[in-house]
Amino acid sequence: MFVEDLNVRGMPEISQNARNKAAIGWRDFLTILEHHGDENGCHVVEVEARGTTKECAECGVETEKPLWVREHSCPACGFEIDRDWNAAFNIQQRG
Ligand SMILES: [Zn+2]
Repeated sequence: MFVEDLNVRGMPEISQNARNKAAIGWRDFLTILEHHGDENGCHVVEVEARGTTKECAECGVETEKPLWVREHSCPACGFEIDRDWNAAFNIQQRG
């Protein structure tokens, strides 16, 4: 099990979360993940993060994007999401 609540269930829901994420902050998000893991008796696994912001969480195609690009928009499959969420999904898959 790796971060069960982040399973890709429905894109509209995730898009909403991606918008809300700005009000939460990345550090808080990680804290929530760790807390969530503790509650479920799981460990939050740290994985190799290199490349996770470039790799599409949907199709795996890597896309170069400068830091100021906050949205991941895949030219291969059209998947659009906040870049941190895209990275999070990639990390989840690696975990
Ligand atoms: Zn893609």
